[in-house]
Formats: sequence, C-alpha cells, structure tokens
Amino acid sequence: MTPTTGDTSAIEQCGSCQARLALRLPSLRAPASPWLCRGCSAAFIAAPQLRDGRPFIAGIRPGCYYDIIQSDRRHVGESIATGDELAQLNECFNTLVREGPDSRQHPRYSLAKRVRALPLTDDLRVVGQPFNALTVNVSTGGIAILQACAPSHSYLAIDFSDTAAMLPPVLLKQLRVRSIGPAYEVAGEFVSRIET
Ligand SMILES: [Zn+2]
Repeated sequence: MTPTTGDTSAIEQCGSCQARLALRLPSLRAPASPWLCRGCSAAFIAAPQLRDGRPFIAGIRPGCYYDIIQSDRRHVGESIATGDELAQLNECFNTLVREGPDSRQHPRYSLAKRVRALPLTDDLRVVGQPFNALTVNVSTGGIAILQACAPSHSYLAIDFSDTAAMLPPVLLKQLRVRSIGPAYEVAGEFVSRIET
C-alpha cells in the first residue's frame, strides 16, 4: 500500500480488487464506519478521507455495520453462545483470573463477557467471519480478549452488543498475543469507535 497523498494514514487501493479508493486509518477524533469497495464489494471498517473538511467519497459506498459484523448470526442464532468453544474459553478465563493481574499502565477490570470480533487487514479490509471471544480485561486504553483461533491479522473490530455494557463497537490494534492453554489472549489498544 503506497499512499499517493503523502498521508501515511491514507488507504488508496482495495487490497482485494486493486481498485482505487479513498479511505484512511481512523483515530479517536475521526471514528471508523463501514464502507464497501465499489469494485468488488469488499468491506472496510475505516474513516473517509477529507477534502476541504468534508468527507471525500471515491471508490466506496456506505456499508451496513450489522450485515458485516453479525453476518452469521441470522444463520446460527444464539446456539453459538453455548458451544464447546465458549466453554473452553471460560475455562481459560478462570485460569487467567487465578493467576492474577500483571502490572499495566491503566487500571483494568477483569470481566468475562462475550463479544464478537471481526479480523481486519492492515488496510482495514474485512477478512473472514466474525467469531466469539471473551473479554479478559478492559481498561481506558484497550482491551484483552480470549479467542479460540490463532490471530492472523493486526486489527479487530470488537462488538459488545451481546453484553449488558452499553459500549460502542471499537477498532482494536493488536499489541501482543500469548497462548493460554488451547486459546489465545490478544491484547490491543483502542484506535477509535465504530459508528454504526
Ligand atoms: Zn475492491
């Protein structure tokens, strides 16, 4: 990905069909939202570029957040919540809680809540299906989750709508990974919220 605008946060090309488009990495002040490539309908969770202070829409069209992050729910339903995978994650979570907290910059809170996570490439393109994960701890700067599959990409969209916490979905950048028994703990920092 070689930005042509000189802006290192710019995403100028669809990594799937190579079409030109205008997106950028979001930030706390420029939140992410769902977009679709006009060439191949690949989904992105990113921020639009700005020209003269207004969103510059080129090569993309708005996407539907619920279609993207909850795409398998209508087929699988809530049965996925009672699966072996979540039982296994719960067991790993209990092991972690027994081990106790390590030192961190921000105060953090252990809570096992089911979230949905969606892997994204470095240019914030959606790859693969959303999967279940459990929160391990949440701080003001980031979150750690337990997931059953090995992490393969550096960004995740995290959806909290299954929990009682009224938190907006967030874009997470992966900072570290460690294996906990058969699962993986993925800790990351918040990049921005995701507007739905
Ligand atoms: Zn495309």
